[in-house]
Order: sequence, then C-alpha cells, then structure tokens
Amino acid sequence: MKDKKPKTKICNKCKKRKSFNKKHFISDKSRKYGLSYKCKICCRKSAQDWDNNNKEKRKEHNKNWRKENKDKVKKSHKKWCGKK
Ligand SMILES: [Zn+2]
Repeated sequence: MKDKKPKTKICNKCKKRKSFNKKHFISDKSRKYGLSYKCKICCRKSAQDWDNNNKEKRKEHNKNWRKENKDKVKKSHKKWCGKK
C-alpha cells in the first residue's frame, strides 16, 4: 500500500512550504517519495557552506588521495579515456 504523495511540503531546514516536486526538492531515492525533505535552495546553501568550511581540508585530502592512489588513478584514466 502506498501513501499518497503530499502536494506541498515544509522544508526541514528553512521551514518554508513549497510544492513537493523535483522542481523545489532534490531527489533522494532513499526517501519515501523519492524526494529529499530539504529544498533545493537549502541544499545548495549547505553544500556551499560545507565547501567554504572544508576547502583547505578537501584540498589536502585530494592531494593525499591522489598521491596514495597514483597508479589507480592512472589506470582508471586509461580505462575511461584510453579508448578512441
Ligand atoms: Zn529550505
């Protein structure tokens, strides 16, 4: 039995009521209706905040990862880009 998808939804974050569809909410397959309970605007905002807060951390992480996985990266690069 399936519940009916509500027409509108209050965003978990900004508490604003919006149309509950892909235009306003990001898709999330793990959720009941395939839509996240966070609106697109909030999602973008939090991603940006995270980016700003973790810019240095991420840079460092990427550098380390690449160093440790040099061969792997090379190989996968070949795999995806080697074909002509
Ligand atoms: Zn929101």
